[in-house]
Parts: sequence; structure tokens; C-alpha cells
Amino acid sequence: MNEQDWIVVGAGSAGCMVACQLARATGTVRNRVTVIEPAGEPAPLINRERPARWLHLLGSSEDWNLTTEKSHRLANRSLRWPRGRGLGGSSRINAMIWFPPTQMDLEMLVAASGGQWTLPELQADFREVTELTRPEHPAWLSESSHRFLKATAQWSDASPMAYARLNRDGRRWNPADLLTAGRQNGSIQIRRGMVDRMIWKDDRIIGVETLDKHGVNSIHARKGVILCAGSIATPAILMRSGIGPRNQLNKLGINLRHDTDLVGNNLRDHLIMPVIFQVKSGRFPTRSSTRNIAQWQTMGSGPLASNLAECGGLFQNNTIQIHVTPTHYLTHPRQAEHAFMTIGVSSTQPQSTGQIQLTASDARAPLRIDARYLEEPDDLNTTIKGIELARRLVQDTSLSQWIVSESIPGKRRDTSRDMEKAIARYSQTLYHPACTCPLGSESDSIITPNFSIRGAEQGWVADASILPRLTHGNPNATVMLLAYSAAKRIINASL
Ligand SMILES: Cc1cc2nc3c(=O)[nH]c(=O)nc-3n(C[C@H](O)[C@H](O)[C@H](O)COP(=O)(O)OP(=O)(O)OC[C@H]3O[C@@H](n4cnc5c(N)ncnc54)[C@H](O)[C@@H]3O)c2cc1C
Repeated sequence: MNEQDWIVVGAGSAGCMVACQLARATGTVRNRVTVIEPAGEPAPLINRERPARWLHLLGSSEDWNLTTEKSHRLANRSLRWPRGRGLGGSSRINAMIWFPPTQMDLEMLVAASGGQWTLPELQADFREVTELTRPEHPAWLSESSHRFLKATAQWSDASPMAYARLNRDGRRWNPADLLTAGRQNGSIQIRRGMVDRMIWKDDRIIGVETLDKHGVNSIHARKGVILCAGSIATPAILMRSGIGPRNQLNKLGINLRHDTDLVGNNLRDHLIMPVIFQVKSGRFPTRSSTRNIAQWQTMGSGPLASNLAECGGLFQNNTIQIHVTPTHYLTHPRQAEHAFMTIGVSSTQPQSTGQIQLTASDARAPLRIDARYLEEPDDLNTTIKGIELARRLVQDTSLSQWIVSESIPGKRRDTSRDMEKAIARYSQTLYHPACTCPLGSESDSIITPNFSIRGAEQGWVADASILPRLTHGNPNATVMLLAYSAAKRIINASL
């Protein structure tokens, strides 16, 4: 038997932050933290380092390669749902955009905590998070971004910006760096394995069972277990540990510990609809030239330092987020003879909720992911408004001089019915699934404002799954904020 103070399950954005903070906590003796992350093959270094190659990481050995159920609202398509695997989790393969929580996001968190958290406290925590992660302002922007930012600078009711990125000198930065000091001084240990379920002793969580190539292992922790396996795997681990909807667990023969519909349901994701324009100049290189490589290697700049989703912002009373890319971008930038710019539009606060379900009690069985995009009419209407906004942005600003034509959906597709069909055919995940075991202060909420799992002493959750609602922009910064705040509270609870 192998025993430590804490076990952190999953070394993604949240897990790295939680483990780093737990290991740094001072006391008379050093805390010992074991981080459990499944083993995996790293993708080629060139794809991991160069921001412009991040799309090559999707579908690679660093991706869990999940897929959703087919959706009739998406022309019967099933979407690929990339999720990062390996130290750094989804931050290992993501688009690196650092979008600080908005005032509304912070207020949403304060409200969910029932007032147990305060705005100043969250703001102070976020300053600490930013010091640890040190997001970078982009050293290079494409012509599309320059033109977009200039054209929309005075646009009312909008906050256009070049997105800050989790980069160091124009190279991808991985939050696994937060583990380095702890690994060096022995307070953090990495174990390779996939957590199947938590181990109970009466009402207390005392460890986890993992699966690796040698079979099942039990790992115990004196002070408890923090789940940071992300918004898909965390609810699955909870359900396999007996916390979830009674019917589902009974059907699979899982011993029920806590009947709650709040685990696995309430799944939300941002959907992005690309509005693609052919433009007169600024073709983005889809192949690296010697000059571009040299520019990136020596200065961390140039097209290879681009994360493709370079700029955008919140528009129309924060209801729509825009991402601008300098390419013809549906799922991957298409190699093209001409120059293109894509304005991706998303509803920031989708109301439709989906589900994560177990298909078996075995941790190796695939999960059933039903995202249920656009089930709520409001989500479709806001996406249609997004297409109309993208069109106005190019017609009513200096961009109009530079646009050749609209390629997708195509200018002729201008009735609501046409746009609905285009959305069904072309929209994609923006890779932000969350809210699958939302935190709340009500007596029936499963995750409390102290991040603890109700009814499971010494069990906590601190990743994207506990978001009560989606953030308005990209969620990673807020997830890391939550993880930081969780570690603080967990340390305090253990004193
Ligand atoms: C392709 C892509 C692009 C994105 N782009 C952006 C962006 O530009 N900006 C932004 O703000 N957000 C972006 N996101 C979203 C952001 O990366 C996530 O919201 C964030 O990483 C969530 O953090 P997390 O810790 O909850 O989960 P993750 O970072 O996904 O970490 C979960 C970890 O748990 C591990 N794990 C899973 N199952 C188990 C198990 N059974 N046992 C042990 N470990 C397990 C996983 O391997 C992983 O390392 C993107 C996401 C993706 C996938």
C-alpha cells in the first residue's frame, strides 16, 4: 500500500494548479501530493511547441478522441470532441487563448457560492493565478486580425481584442510546468494510470482505484482526493463511485452512495459557426517557409507563432463571442489559392443542456456524450444573430473594401431557414464542455462552495465540471482560478 497526503486525479489545467498549490502549502512537514494521469505517447515536438500547429494535436496520441451522439439539430452529425491527455491535459492541445473571467463570470461564481466567495477575493486569487501562468501578448498578428481590430475598434457594445495566450516567447506553455518545483523537491509524485473510482471507508474517501497495463491498483491518501479529470471524466468517476442518478447506477449494478441528478446532466458547450470570407490580401501560409521558421525560432514571432484564433471579443451585450482566424476555417484551415478570413460566432450563454452517461461500470467502456446543442430555440436565434453581426461587421466598416465575397454560408443564404441549415451543417464545438457537476450552495447541490463532494468527506472536485454556467469567453483562465481557490480552501480545511 502506498500512502500520501492528497491524490489529485488528472493533470490538466486544474489538476496542475491544485497540485502545485497543495505542494507549496507550508507546514511543519512537507505535503506529499500524488498526481494521477494516464500514460500516453507525446505528439511530435514541432506540433507541441509551435502555436500555429495546434490543430495537428487534435486526433493525435495526446487526444482522448471523444465523439458525441449524432444530433438532428446538426444535420445528424456527430462531432469530434478533442480532450487533452498527458501532463497538461487539454491545455496541452488547446488554442492557448487566455480570456480572463469577465465581471459577469465572477458574479456568477459569487452567486453560485451563495455569497461565501466575494468578488475582491476572486479578483485577488486571479491576480495570483496570472502571476503563475504569465499569459503573453501576441508578438505577431495576421493582416486579418489587424484589419478586424481596426475596423471594430469603435463598434458599439463590443470589446474587440487581440487574445492573450498561454505562451512563453511565442511557444506553447504547458501548465505541467507548475509541477516542476514540487517534483524536484519530492512533494509531487506523478503516477501513470487511469482512475476508475474512489475508495470509500464509511462516508469518507480514502483513495482511488486505478487501472494500468498491469491491472487494478489501490492508492490511498491521508487527507483526501481531489478530482480534476475534466468535465467528461470527472462525472464518470463520480458515477462509478456511486454518486449519480439512481436509475443509471442501478441499471449498471453500481452500488449507490448518493442519488443525484446533478452528476452528468447539465452539460453545456459553446458551439461555433464559421462565417467565411474571401479577402483581397494576406493569405496565411499553411506551409512553413525557412524565413518563417527562422523568425519564430529567433524571435518567437511570425505566422508560426499564430494560434490561428488570434483575436475577437464579446459583442452585442456580451451575448456573442467572435473568434477571427486568417484562414478558410471549418474544422481545419483549408489550403487555398486565395486569402480568407473566418469570423466564428458563438452564443456565449447557451441554454441547451446535454448529458454524460456511463454505458458500463467498466472504466474502459466509452461514455455516451449527448451534447444536445441548439435544443433551446434561443441558442439557434443567437447564433443566427451572430451570422448577421459578422455580415454587418464586414459591410459597415473598412473591411468592406477588402472583402471579395462571403463563401460560407454564402450571401444568398439570408433567410432564417437558410441560416439554420448552414448552422446545422457547419457549426462545430468550440471545445468548452463544462458544468457536468455544478457547484452550488443549495442543500441538494453535489459540489459545495468549499469544493467538497456532499456526503463524501475528504472528496473534492476542482475542474471545469463544477462551473455552474459557461463563462462568457474561453474558460481556461476561469478553470485555473477555480482550481487555485479550491486548493486554498482544501488546505485550510486540512489545518
Ligand atoms: C482543442 C481545444 C482547444 C481549446 N482552446 C481553448 C482556448 O484557447 N482557451 C481556453 O480558455 N480554453 C480552451 N479550451 C478549453 C480548456 O482547455 C479547458 O476548458 C480546460 O483545459 C479544462 O481544464 P480541466 O482541468 O477541467 O480539464 P483538462 O485540462 O481536460 O484535464 C483533465 C485531465 O484529466 C485526465 N484524465 C481524464 N480521465 C482520467 C482518469 N480516469 N484518471 C486520471 N486522469 C484522467 C486527462 O488526461 C487530463 O489530463 C480548449 C480545449 C480543447 C480540447
